[in-house]
Amino acid sequence: MKAHMITYGCQMNEYDTHLVQSQLVSFGADLVDSIDEADFVLVNTCAVRGKPVDKVRSLLGQLRKVKSQRPLVVGMMGCLAQLEEGQQMARKFEVDVLLGPGSLLDIGAALESNGRFWGLQFKDELHEHIPPSPQGKLQAHLTIMRGCDHHCTYCIVPTTRGPQVSRSPDDILRELDTQLAAGVQEVTLLGQNVNAYGVDGGARLAGYPSFADLLRLVGRSGVRRIKFTTSHPMNFTEDVAAAMAETPAVCDFVHLPVQSGSSRVLRRMAREYSRQEYLGHIAAIKKHLPNVVLATDIIVGFPGETEEDFQETLSLYDEVGYDSAYMFIYSPRPGTPSYKHFADLPRELKTERLQRLILKQKEWSKLRNAGKVGTVQEVLLRGDAHSEGFLEGHTRGNHPTVVPRAVGADGAGVYPVLIGHSTPHMLYGQIVGADGQPLPEIPRLEPQAAALSRPLQMA
Ligand code: SAM
Ligand code: SF4
Repeated sequence: MKAHMITYGCQMNEYDTHLVQSQLVSFGADLVDSIDEADFVLVNTCAVRGKPVDKVRSLLGQLRKVKSQRPLVVGMMGCLAQLEEGQQMARKFEVDVLLGPGSLLDIGAALESNGRFWGLQFKDELHEHIPPSPQGKLQAHLTIMRGCDHHCTYCIVPTTRGPQVSRSPDDILRELDTQLAAGVQEVTLLGQNVNAYGVDGGARLAGYPSFADLLRLVGRSGVRRIKFTTSHPMNFTEDVAAAMAETPAVCDFVHLPVQSGSSRVLRRMAREYSRQEYLGHIAAIKKHLPNVVLATDIIVGFPGETEEDFQETLSLYDEVGYDSAYMFIYSPRPGTPSYKHFADLPRELKTERLQRLILKQKEWSKLRNAGKVGTVQEVLLRGDAHSEGFLEGHTRGNHPTVVPRAVGADGAGVYPVLIGHSTPHMLYGQIVGADGQPLPEIPRLEPQAAALSRPLQMA
């Protein structure tokens, strides 16, 4: 079988795609790069906003057309598969295999079924499963928990992914070992609310460390860089900032979604913290980590958001001075309390607020990135950038960075980089040697010279 996977959504979905791909390979499938080459196409879906749902709908329409012309098995997994909305889509577009986020290990049974297979249960063995590490990659994700115990009024995740289940520290460390053995240098611990690790359904699990202690534990493994996402402010404790400060491998990077700067809106979102409490967490983080890089998520145009509420979001942005932000227009999702109880604001008003927020974000990203010029940053280079002769990667603070290939450093690796120039979205630099001086660049061929250097074709 030739299988092709298409992934929408968050890093947890990327992790799940890798998990299912490794299962497919263990069942003898070849992974291929396009729909044209595949006889099994599996779409990993996101249901958090309307846009990714629309994308899946149009892709499934396309796949049904291909299916009418040649034999093709179509599968759908992830959050949308768990919802009635997704299941209706699956029926309409003749999807054969449906796997909810808790049933990913049913992929083997699905392949054997040779026909229609729907798996929608939340199965415990998923938490113990250790997928093989991605080969040849310097960075990896590691899921430490699944599901979510919060009930933010706009969010469909608790419905699609179920209640929070923390993985045991032993399973986490075993998976980390396989990643280290495969050469991983940066691991990102994943969960919807990593700060609540080990406290499922409100009760601490016996033998499970707190998230702060888990960071300390993972920090002793020898991995070079540790990141984590996402943190919920309600469960954030100062001990997490202290653990970050005392564990050298943990990067000074915190992604702490605020969603809104207005306590009134936060209450309607059921976020369980106020603006002041959020700013208190930021102050504690800055106290322990003076050079911290801060990122956030913001929803604009939540039902009932007034201009004054929105101004509070803009002023909070200035108070915190984020390096970056994911900004979303509120998307009413069927099945959520806000969809049921609150009226959506006009589209134009939401879009106009988003544009103003994007301007604010650009201002700050420009300022924060400009502050890196002249400094040496540790950059994990993944490989070739879009422009020929350049490599791309990211700093410990997650800033995308581009460097020219250099003699002795012409591929993936972790290097010190002297930042020479910045834009709001990118740092540009040069790899430096042990003496702190830039390594000589590998000369780039001009396109014309490159063409001339090709061997002549004999007629
Ligand atoms: N668990 C994380 C937290 O609470 O911060 C976030 C997980 S959620 C999958 C990722 C982001 O999607 C949220 O932080 C929120 O900004 C955004 N989001 C979720 N539901 C949304 C909705 N209905 N409309 C717009 N954005 C939404
Ligand atoms: Fe959704 Fe809130 Fe849970 Fe995050 S914490 S996944 S936004 S319900």
